[in-house]
Amino acid sequence: MSDCIFCKIVRGEIPANKVYEDSEVIAFKDIRPAAPVHLLLIPKRHIESMLTTTKEDEALLGKMLALTPVLAREQGLGAGYKTAINTGLAGGQEVFHLHLHVMGTPQ
Ligand code: 5GP
Repeated sequence: MSDCIFCKIVRGEIPANKVYEDSEVIAFKDIRPAAPVHLLLIPKRHIESMLTTTKEDEALLGKMLALTPVLAREQGLGAGYKTAINTGLAGGQEVFHLHLHVMGTPQ
């Protein structure tokens, strides 16, 4: 999606404070953090929201969830953290490129 802000981050067209990247996903710091640590973990492939995922996305979604404790520990959140996926306008989603929020306070 050429005009999707998170696709632009994936392509390196706009800057982001990246903390993790591999061939399928990127994690970076939220520009308006709602907690002392606030990461966004996104698939590189444009997926609009959880509402448009299919069975083919199961492995990717599982990988994203499984990455959260790794990223959280690296950010000092070994004692615990919150995850959230806002889904659809009615679910509070503002950026329509699937993303998983990882939020917490280092202890
Ligand atoms: P949503 O409400 O869609 O779940 O959350 C979107 C999140 O993306 C918000 O927390 C917002 O601060 C963040 N965000 C929006 N635009 C940018 C951006 O250009 N860069 C970064 N790093 N975060 C963004």
